[in-house]
Amino acid sequence: MVPEWLQRLNAPQQQAVMTTEGPVLMLAGAGTGKTAALTHRLAHIVRERLAWPSEILCVTFTNKAAREMRERVGKLTGGALEGMPWLGTFHSIGAKMLRRHAELVGLQSNYTIIDTDDQLRLLKALIQDNDIDDKRWPARQLAGLIDRWKNRGLNPADLDAVENESYANGRGQEMYRLYQERLKALNACDFGDLLLHMLNVLKQHRDVLESYQKRFKYILVDEYQDTNAVQYLWLRLLAQERKNICVVGDDDQSIYSWRGAEVANILRFEKDFPGAKTVKLEQNYRSTPQILAAASGLIAANSHRLGKTLWTDLPTGEKVRVIGVWDAPEEARRVGEEIERLEREGASLEQVAILVRAQYQTREFEDRFIQIGLAYRIVGGFRFYERAEIRDALAYLRVIAQPADDLAFERIYNQPKRGLGAKTLEKMHQHARRTQQPLAAAALELADSDELPARARGTIAELMRHFLRWRGMAEAMTPSELLRNVLEESGYDAMLKADRSSESAGRAENLVELQRAMEEYPTLGDFLEHVALVMENDARDDEEKVTIMTMHAAKGLEFDHVFLPGWEENVFPSQRALDEGGLASLEEERRLAYVAITRARRRCTIMHAANRRIFGTWQSSIPSRFVDELPADHIESETTMTGGRSLWQANWSESEDPFAHVSQSRPDRSSARGPGWQRALATGYDTKQARIPENKRSAASFAAKPRTDVEIGARVFHEKFGYGEVMGQEGNKLEIEFDKAGTKRVIDSFVTLA
Ligand code: ATP
Ligand code: MG
Repeated sequence: MVPEWLQRLNAPQQQAVMTTEGPVLMLAGAGTGKTAALTHRLAHIVRERLAWPSEILCVTFTNKAAREMRERVGKLTGGALEGMPWLGTFHSIGAKMLRRHAELVGLQSNYTIIDTDDQLRLLKALIQDNDIDDKRWPARQLAGLIDRWKNRGLNPADLDAVENESYANGRGQEMYRLYQERLKALNACDFGDLLLHMLNVLKQHRDVLESYQKRFKYILVDEYQDTNAVQYLWLRLLAQERKNICVVGDDDQSIYSWRGAEVANILRFEKDFPGAKTVKLEQNYRSTPQILAAASGLIAANSHRLGKTLWTDLPTGEKVRVIGVWDAPEEARRVGEEIERLEREGASLEQVAILVRAQYQTREFEDRFIQIGLAYRIVGGFRFYERAEIRDALAYLRVIAQPADDLAFERIYNQPKRGLGAKTLEKMHQHARRTQQPLAAAALELADSDELPARARGTIAELMRHFLRWRGMAEAMTPSELLRNVLEESGYDAMLKADRSSESAGRAENLVELQRAMEEYPTLGDFLEHVALVMENDARDDEEKVTIMTMHAAKGLEFDHVFLPGWEENVFPSQRALDEGGLASLEEERRLAYVAITRARRRCTIMHAANRRIFGTWQSSIPSRFVDELPADHIESETTMTGGRSLWQANWSESEDPFAHVSQSRPDRSSARGPGWQRALATGYDTKQARIPENKRSAASFAAKPRTDVEIGARVFHEKFGYGEVMGQEGNKLEIEFDKAGTKRVIDSFVTLA
């Protein structure tokens, strides 16, 4: 008999809830109620007193998910869930267990968990002590390797020759061991240790293992497709005795392989736990038929998947919209307008999300939302202008614009590291106080005195010379150009390049995005004022807000209205995925697209821009291949450029200014944009000379100058329309008769001579 409070679940869900004994695998698509079933299962166990809350181990993917589950189970059990000590993420549960057994791995129970910064400092010192060249073998690289080893459950002794070779010509194992020893001496551990130490304890101490096997009468795991090896091994040990383990997941939503997750874990569950009951859920309760069909059609392009059926009996809704816009600012403006419209129609901002592929993409939306006063929150990351690398860059600019900005100077006098320590800073402060001048001015004087050791004096003098020059540059070049020089000459770029971690690529992207943002401001002062206003603009806590987050962070969540901007090749799928990973990482990107679309309950809007601007140069972009893969029947496409036709299909007006229509449709910003461009053109700033990153699929860039090397009758190739013959030329526009696409007018720099 199914109790009444479980009646709202469907039959397979009820089965997953009621089959409390023995292993259960719930493998099902997005929005089918996996998490809901897991929550009810937990509540059921507690209500039926099959176990005390303290006898249940329940793992969620994020702390937020853990909080939500705790709350829901509380409601379902009528508040009976006071203590549920073992409900949380792998990390939080690991940390808690380790406190009780710290001494078994040579720690005390009050051990500290160090963060990434501390970890890097430690490694750096070790690298130096051991005479390894940290330019060739940076600390970040070693940190990345150690993380990976820990994710795979490998202790130093477990490394094979290949792993050992991967750092400093065969010194990986030695350095890993030294690092672990150092941590122990400090009574500390890093995040990776939380589970690895516990796995070691469970393996080496039978009594401890048995006590936990006895304790945990039931084990529940959400998002199982994204567990890594060490998590998997740890769970398997704990569940081996009673085997009352229920895992839920979706192979199509495995999106964390870059962090060591192995989708194979879910696929071999039935082998690890013979006789496991498999529950399939096929009814989706979240999304309209259109959204579901779009997502299902897209993921069908992946070859490595189990494949499953999904259906919904929710009423029919709108088609998934695919909107092509001119550029990123228009994308943000359009999203802002759509959200304002939703608001007018009575939607709550809490039910609106913008999901981006990369952190840097949030900037354009933040700027726009600030401008129109739309409250937003960034989940799972900092707001753009609060990110460390952005603050560093801004600090440089502030010192240039305002030499008396002590806070800014203090932030960057030794960032990147120049060997100026706390002692030097103290001296600078003393001198500044004594002479009543700003820190930077005091530094300059000290560089010319005997107060400091010669090396520090030289370093400061050089830095101050840089600042003098940059101040001169600020007069002569655009703010964005200035920043590019600053980042290069200060060594900041080099620091990021030397840093081979995955975050450093994101930091570099953020800095490129910052330069893009600056292009809209004629002077440094204008830009800094804008930033100050943005930073100040803090939405109230009790206000409804739009959520902006990465697709990765949105896993497991749902919103009525979802906007998915930047569906362009090299943005999504990301350039890194295309360059590095081959088919496997392309398929992971596609799974991410599937996760993103299936977050939407009622409306899903996908967007792509025809142009992205990089260092003052426009680059044309191609819509993501994922756009093409969406099933046409469930999609409604719209291009906002020049009244429904894309720019290069449109006939040109008399105006020679290719941006004319852009500014027309953007009166609020054209004034900010205009002078920058005019100045760039007037000073002969050749946009083609600007650095363009290697970009295989869309290398075309254009300046508003006609080309001289293309003649009437020439055979040319155009990225979008293919081969054709030039029939006419007018300014920088060419009329081309394409073999397949017919006659079009296109911008000359989009074609190459065939
Ligand atoms: P994801 O794969 O994205 O994590 P999921 O399978 O965990 O999705 P849930 O988040 O549990 O799905 O459920 C999706 C939505 O469907 C939720 O709003 C949930 O409340 C609702 N739901 C789940 N089961 C039912 C049901 N039997 N009847 C009605 N609504 C349901
Ligand atoms: Mg879920």
